[in-house]
Amino acid sequence: MVEENTEVVDRLYKCAKCGAIPPMIHEKDDKTKPLIMGSGLSTMYAKKLVCGRCGYEWSKN
Ligand SMILES: [Zn+2]
Repeated sequence: MVEENTEVVDRLYKCAKCGAIPPMIHEKDDKTKPLIMGSGLSTMYAKKLVCGRCGYEWSKN
């Protein structure tokens, strides 16, 4: 059973490469994955996670 709870999930993010956990893990816009591109709207991007220790990047979803 998996419950969707972003507050909890946020704490589970962990770098697959070096094992760093928040607050070493940062969330950034993935500019290669625009979600919404419309006139009059600012572009929304998918989020990606970046390890502040080793620089490893991975998709949030
Ligand atoms: Zn790392």
